[in-house]
Amino acid sequence: MACVSTPQDFPVAPTLDCWKCPVMKREMEALELAFRRKTSITSTLLHNIEKYSRELRERDGRYVYKVMDFCGTHEWTIVHFGLRSLLEKAGARNVELVAGPGCPVCVTPSYYIEHSIKLALEGVVVYTYGDVFKVPALRPVKGARSLAEAKALGGDVRVVHSFLHAVIDARKHNKDSLFVGIGFETVAPGYSEAILKGLVPDHLKLMSLVKLTPPAMFYTLEVVREKPTDYPISGVIAPGHVSTIVGGKAWQPVAEQFQIPVVVAGFEPNDVLAAVAEILRQMARGEHKVVIEYTRAVTWEGDLKAQSSIRTVFETVDSAWRGIGYIPKSGLALREEFRRHDAFAYFGISDLTPETWRYDLPANCRCAEVTLGKAKPTDCPLFMKACTPDRPIGPCMVSVEGTCAIWARFGGGGLADEIARAVGVF
Ligand code: SF4
Repeated sequence: MACVSTPQDFPVAPTLDCWKCPVMKREMEALELAFRRKTSITSTLLHNIEKYSRELRERDGRYVYKVMDFCGTHEWTIVHFGLRSLLEKAGARNVELVAGPGCPVCVTPSYYIEHSIKLALEGVVVYTYGDVFKVPALRPVKGARSLAEAKALGGDVRVVHSFLHAVIDARKHNKDSLFVGIGFETVAPGYSEAILKGLVPDHLKLMSLVKLTPPAMFYTLEVVREKPTDYPISGVIAPGHVSTIVGGKAWQPVAEQFQIPVVVAGFEPNDVLAAVAEILRQMARGEHKVVIEYTRAVTWEGDLKAQSSIRTVFETVDSAWRGIGYIPKSGLALREEFRRHDAFAYFGISDLTPETWRYDLPANCRCAEVTLGKAKPTDCPLFMKACTPDRPIGPCMVSVEGTCAIWARFGGGGLADEIARAVGVF
């Protein structure tokens, strides 16, 4: 879920825990209210989902159709509102919603977290987002396993809502500073525009860890397809936030290569149900195209100005994903002409390479399989035993977009029972 705190909140966030943030709580209550008021739409969507899933079952006798929700915020919507239970209650038991790798904090290699911790303990001011602050590294650095622990040990680690906030704060001092630039395409224009407008002071360096989602979607679909015991992914709910930048056209190659429907969806529960209904409709009719359901924010071309800004400042590179390894052309690195902003060059950090990357998840943590849709959080032996939101072991238990954290907080079925009664499927 995107942080909705306003800039006036800066520099003091209401809380470092997004789950306890009063702004987020208000947003959640508004979403719940809106859902309760739109049950007639929900009822129609569930009717269509049941109809198409029955048609598919009768046509080819298959028991499971997997639909992958690629974005962590979609997974949040699905779990918080109990949409899996709602589908089951509506009779669409053969439709399985599978979470994908839509959490940038979950897939950022431990190596970069460890270097950020080290710099913080060496006197560098480290700016970071709230969820990165708590993500555990594989190996402790000088006694600290996270940036939160580095701060507790005296490091100057400052939590900010955006790169711009870090820029504003860094302009008030001249100490060596680092911004831990984790994110997907949605954050990249914020980095590139600040650089192009000359706002970034020389002592603030960017560690670009931006990941690109279309290559990750290709990789994920391939991996699941290659595992012969698994049902393939039959359709994809494409990320809405990312699509505001890259546009619906970015998913066209996915639909063509894998011959599956792709629907760009918004984040209200009815958006997600509409996406599922459209995916099943296309499957039942033998179609495989990209449809934008989230038309109130996404266009086919996307944000051309943002795309141009990103292309000017960054180049596409092969990139390492935590626990997974290298995915070709899935990351952004600063171009040579912007090297003066580059944290790797300035602090003398060698970037990872396919030769130096090592598997970097803790023992028994199944985060990589969870992010690739090959396992559920409940398949992990540590889930809610050794690994909890208060004491996370793996990275998927930290962020508001991490599947394990979402299941841990809202795994009880959400509002499904109440909504099911309201729409008459209970
Ligand atoms: S529950 Fe914890 S240890 Fe298990 S996969 Fe999730 S993050 Fe990893």
